Amino acid sequence: MPEGHTIHREARLQSRQFAGEPLNVWSPQGRFDSGASLLDGNEIEAIEAWGKHLFYEWDHGHCLHVHLGLFGRFRRHKSDPPPPTDGTRLAMEGDSGTLYLSGPTACEIIDPEEREEILAGLGPDPLRPSSYSEPVEHIEEMLGRRTVPIAAAILDQAVIAGIGNVYRAEILFRTGVNPLIESKRVDRDSIERMWKEATTQLEAGERTGRIVTTDPEDVGRSNRKEIEKGERTYVYKRQGQPCRRCGTEIERTEVADRKVWWCPECQPR
Ligand SMILES: [Zn+2]
Repeated sequence: MPEGHTIHREARLQSRQFAGEPLNVWSPQGRFDSGASLLDGNEIEAIEAWGKHLFYEWDHGHCLHVHLGLFGRFRRHKSDPPPPTDGTRLAMEGDSGTLYLSGPTACEIIDPEEREEILAGLGPDPLRPSSYSEPVEHIEEMLGRRTVPIAAAILDQAVIAGIGNVYRAEILFRTGVNPLIESKRVDRDSIERMWKEATTQLEAGERTGRIVTTDPEDVGRSNRKEIEKGERTYVYKRQGQPCRRCGTEIERTEVADRKVWWCPECQPR
């Protein structure tokens, strides 16, 4: 599933490519025919990302809401795009290229109230730190009411918006927090460090388009650029392998129906 960094990166790259010019908009699959006809021929003014949600603000006042969900995918083409597949929900084409969207959970025209409702259900987004006045206080308050394991709570978009399965395992490792600890038992200091890690890690992911959470020295490299494919995470998908910091075997279990990995030594209970 795409995590927040991918969504913010798409917002930035799509804005650069498609905003400010009239676009042909249609639905090759047909399921978004009526929405597409409302947008066809108009211009995107801005594309905003919040957590895993995208809001396309059009110059004639319409707002297009997109959520990729588990299977959604964008394909951007600069020139000579292949024909859209039958499953393409939305296609947009301008002078600077073509965009295809397939398999989203949401692709809909929404009004300002619906937009407010979606935003009201989202916690602070580490990639929009200044848009939420007290992110750490919010997270602390939300965790204080929850008895589920912390690994379940930080996937909850109302607690923090934008964290998915890779980042949750990696952020908990880097913060030294055991994934199975009851949410309300996580202390303020750990929450502050978790928020800081989330910000740093997602910013790096947004910039580069890939998730690399390891520090170069922990994988025997002298800088980030040298980090190779199998060295990009501390715990994610590394069950049974030695921890990169202490050598203890990485463990795996399921929390909130998704697998989570951790080091029993670096993240004690
Ligand atoms: Zn360890």
